[in-house]
Amino acid sequence: MRECIHCVTDFDPNSSAKKRVGGKINECPDCVEELGTETAVKYLGLQAGEGKTASISIVAFESDEDRQAYSKAWKAVTGFHKGKSCHLSGSQTTIGNRPMRHIAYNSGNSNHKGKS
Ligand SMILES: [Zn+2]
Repeated sequence: MRECIHCVTDFDPNSSAKKRVGGKINECPDCVEELGTETAVKYLGLQAGEGKTASISIVAFESDEDRQAYSKAWKAVTGFHKGKSCHLSGSQTTIGNRPMRHIAYNSGNSNHKGKS
């Protein structure tokens, strides 16, 4: 447990609420939300459902709103949790031109048999 520097209440820095709102390690989740001390928009890790070694993209956004919208669209388009069957559908969610930049892209290895 840690003591919050703002309200001097003990809180669990590993709690899901704390992880969700972010903020500094010595600020309780309530104060982070109330005071709006968390300003960084979290990176979003995207994983394609291609098999054992999936492609991973890490992208940054200018706002949480964009991040969430992109995440939602990505999951709809790539069939996250649904397999690739959704690609057969005629309707697709549009990802759109949201402001973002790629931080990193780790391409999956399509050679499943381990040959070089
Ligand atoms: Zn607090």
